[in-house]
Amino acid sequence: MSLRKGQHEGLISFETFQRIQDNLAGRKRLPAARKDFNEDFPLRGFVQCGCCGNAMTAAWSKGCRRHYAYYRCETRGCEAKSKSVPRAKMEDAFAEIMESVQPARDLFDLAKAMLRDAWDMRLAVAHGEKDELEKQLKDVDRQIESLLDRIVDATSASVVSAYEARIEKLERHKIVLAERVETTVPPRGRLEDCIELALKFLANPWNLYKNGDFTLRQTVLRLVFSEPLKYGQNGVYGTPELSFPFKYLAGISESKSEMVRAVGVEPTRAHGPTDFKSGMSTIPSRPHWLGKGL
Ligand SMILES: [Zn+2]
Repeated sequence: MSLRKGQHEGLISFETFQRIQDNLAGRKRLPAARKDFNEDFPLRGFVQCGCCGNAMTAAWSKGCRRHYAYYRCETRGCEAKSKSVPRAKMEDAFAEIMESVQPARDLFDLAKAMLRDAWDMRLAVAHGEKDELEKQLKDVDRQIESLLDRIVDATSASVVSAYEARIEKLERHKIVLAERVETTVPPRGRLEDCIELALKFLANPWNLYKNGDFTLRQTVLRLVFSEPLKYGQNGVYGTPELSFPFKYLAGISESKSEMVRAVGVEPTRAHGPTDFKSGMSTIPSRPHWLGKGL
């Protein structure tokens, strides 16, 4: 079933949704394993040295009176090797990037409307599939009934057992179909939940990051950026490569007026590349980053 198979192609897996939801609700999770050293450095492994492209490491270093946290490149031969960047400096600049990623309110409302349309379309397709499965189920029932009738009329034992074998096969098929009928259309509440969660994430990834634990922070990093960030020797990050949703929202903001018109009238119409300053040639009728399933 396409609706189920797509489960892991989505922007966010259900498990992640759940984790984000728990976080938003402030629910207590199981106590995490021993607080890892790495947890002091959430950007460790994610940020690359702008000079050599290798992941930067991080550590505490002992000063005269206290310990200092810093990131640095440890790659042999790299020009930036062992040049320490104070943790605060690196993480403050990162915070600025995250804050800039946040879509504007009106843009966000537009994304919300599109998301709802996409879900509604998906739901309509699922209902169609369910109807089809129910038809098949009725058909199997009819076949079983007619076989039962034939058994009654049958005179030879071998014919009876052949019919019985076919009935058994049909009964098994019936179970499979019945199960698919049950699962084709996701419960309405669950869809709503997922929309809300996706929107919360899109609206405020920085908040989630700030208030999240180490694991959630790693998840947010992976969801917001399509590539690791590069930290230059000049103390500035390279241009961030955003993941599709954020890139998409940024693209909309560049050509918002055309977008609003197009989405409002004919969401599936393809546009010539000249229609959009952002260079997007089409408006997906359902954002594919939602994945095919829940
Ligand atoms: Zn380096």
